[in-house]
Amino acid sequence: MAILNIRIIGDPVLRTVADPVTEFGPELAKLVADMTETMEDVEGAGLAAPQVGVSLRVFTYRIGGVEGHIINPVLENSEDFQPDQVEGCLSIPGLGFPVRRYRHTRVTGVDLHGNPVAVEGEAMLARCFQHETDHLDGILYTDRLEGDDRKAALRAIRNANYDAITEQTTSKRAKSVGTSFGGSSFGINP
Ligand code: ZN
Repeated sequence: MAILNIRIIGDPVLRTVADPVTEFGPELAKLVADMTETMEDVEGAGLAAPQVGVSLRVFTYRIGGVEGHIINPVLENSEDFQPDQVEGCLSIPGLGFPVRRYRHTRVTGVDLHGNPVAVEGEAMLARCFQHETDHLDGILYTDRLEGDDRKAALRAIRNANYDAITEQTTSKRAKSVGTSFGGSSFGINP
């Protein structure tokens, strides 16, 4: 297993619609294992494959002690929303803004062996599934902000020296930033 380098906003892979997984072999198993280890290392609540430079429809999650991965996820969201909560993203270090998300989400897909999986949840878990699936469609949470929050986020991204941050190692960045999707930005210790 290995800790992977996390791609930062500005990297085109984060804006690319990821391809469905079609090959379920040792390479996929290694990707899931490495993503899981990387997510644990940075104490993230979720990680999508494009964030480690792989344009495939895979994400891992780690919410309230429950860990897992979903491949080729399909979401069914409730029509109503949950109270806004601050989200951060490992690919946009140092920022956090409240995001509107659906209250309940059911995600179906397959595991690394190609076996069907279905997980459903509310609150943090639903929020994580929506955030990570957005990554697979090239969408970042800042795209979902409106009004003053959107302006503030765009300004902060413009002013941040993300090129310099990219030079740092993943672990150093995690220590210096301390806010990632989930984790401290939600006030939860996974
Ligand atoms: Zn993210």
